[in-house]
Amino acid sequence: MGLLTIGTFAKASRLSPKALRLYDELGLLTPARVDPVTGYRLYAPEQLEQARLVAWLRRLGMPLARIQHICTLEAGPAAREVRAFWAQVEAATAARRDLASFLIGHLSWKDPAMSPTAKPLGIRYAALSDTGLVRESNQDTAYAGSRLLAVADGFGSGGAPASAAAVDALKRLETDSIPAGDLLNLLEDAIEQAKQAVNGVAGPASSPEEAGTTLTAMLWTGSQLALVHIGDSRVYLLREGELFQITQDHTMVQSMVDEGRISPEEAVSHPQRSLLIRALRQGADGTPDMRLHDAQREDRYLLCSDGLSTVVPTEEIRRVLSDISEPEQAVRELVALANGSGGPDNVSCVVADVMELQQ
Ligand code: MN
Repeated sequence: MGLLTIGTFAKASRLSPKALRLYDELGLLTPARVDPVTGYRLYAPEQLEQARLVAWLRRLGMPLARIQHICTLEAGPAAREVRAFWAQVEAATAARRDLASFLIGHLSWKDPAMSPTAKPLGIRYAALSDTGLVRESNQDTAYAGSRLLAVADGFGSGGAPASAAAVDALKRLETDSIPAGDLLNLLEDAIEQAKQAVNGVAGPASSPEEAGTTLTAMLWTGSQLALVHIGDSRVYLLREGELFQITQDHTMVQSMVDEGRISPEEAVSHPQRSLLIRALRQGADGTPDMRLHDAQREDRYLLCSDGLSTVVPTEEIRRVLSDISEPEQAVRELVALANGSGGPDNVSCVVADVMELQQ
């Protein structure tokens, strides 16, 4: 079979002649021959397979530079690249979805038609942080107040002041009364202040490993809980006896699980399971996840550092949260369980119950 004209080749590969000319210029798909007289591009039939791959990858929304790279790979590595690309797309979509649900909640709250008619809700809460049995000092910070719940897990030589500074920056939100319309901006400002405070602890010339922290916090607004989360501390929601993890760990292993590179079981024992890809520290991606949760009567929230979730099985956590009604007692029991499993890390827990206010 002879060479194909650009028109025939375009039809067979589902790429337009215009796209084919562009891909030629970019070196992505070079014609087998260019007629020296007419300048017409001619393609070999065996180039169709690559052309179709390019067309499919374009349909996925992959940038040309990335397609170019994939075209140089064997099938196996190419498959892994496509999988990694798609995991990134999904992560970006998840972040946009969070923002969208935040905005929907925020606007619904402002909508008079949606204003709650039921009894006012409040929270009761307790926080406890413990050094554990192995570490020399406690670099975690746990805090619970009438409006703010927070857990921060500091790391590096300045880990303790870093986690304390991050939580302190959010405490400002507790004293100000918050106009509903400003919630998102105020949270972003508070996170910015927390970042600066952490950088202040680390010092300008220090390495990123010098000082940093995770930060997972919920702000009670009277009918909703605004969630801010960065790092591998977690929030669980106990609702009708079931436990849901409502935050995603910003760790290397979690993204490897998301990309299908390792299984969730392999992640548990992975040597680098605590390596953070997002945190409050210099040089790291410091963008937190933000979300708004409608408060429901009898919901119970647990915020915890990885010192709990790494060593205490989820089912044990669920059992304690279901069985023990007083938040004070529940946090004590959870910390005791972590220490009962060797207490290898600092452990912090905040438990908060949404309930009707007594009038
Ligand atoms: Mn920790």
